[in-house]
Amino acid sequence: MEPKLISELRLKCPVCGKETLIARDYLYEAENVGKLILSNWTCENCNYVFKDVKPYETAEPKKLEFKVEEESDLNVIVYRSPFASLYIPELGIEVYPQNASQGLISTVEGVLEDILEYLGTLCDNDNCKDIYDAKDGKIPFTLILEDPSGTSFIKSEKVKITQLLSLSQY
Ligand SMILES: [Zn+2]
Repeated sequence: MEPKLISELRLKCPVCGKETLIARDYLYEAENVGKLILSNWTCENCNYVFKDVKPYETAEPKKLEFKVEEESDLNVIVYRSPFASLYIPELGIEVYPQNASQGLISTVEGVLEDILEYLGTLCDNDNCKDIYDAKDGKIPFTLILEDPSGTSFIKSEKVKITQLLSLSQY
């Protein structure tokens, strides 16, 4: 079987920041292995490439937990699908999916930058200090994604993945 295109999205590139990342996912059926999803995401502007292979069956509701403990963890690639909620309990951050929102690929640091940008003028020196400290690697925190579609990922072996039974509150 030839790989079959199952999804094509235009996303913001985690490297150059332009909306030129073409994210194509293919379904591929391999003998003895079963169905796989092949991701081939390429930025038309800066040529950033992201490739991934995962079993098709894992696309079920799941919760991802990633403990950010050292500076290199800030560079880990994160993909939040349009259906995923994002939590950082230590910083009091909760971001819920919005109707029109699209998937977002970024780094852990980029996620924090997006939150700071979103807060904008609501951010004065005090209430966003923790977020700035977290972004500078000064304080550890936990990045949590709860995704009913199961397609979000955090590209690190340290990620703890559990099945999402019900949406929890933090
Ligand atoms: Zn790019």
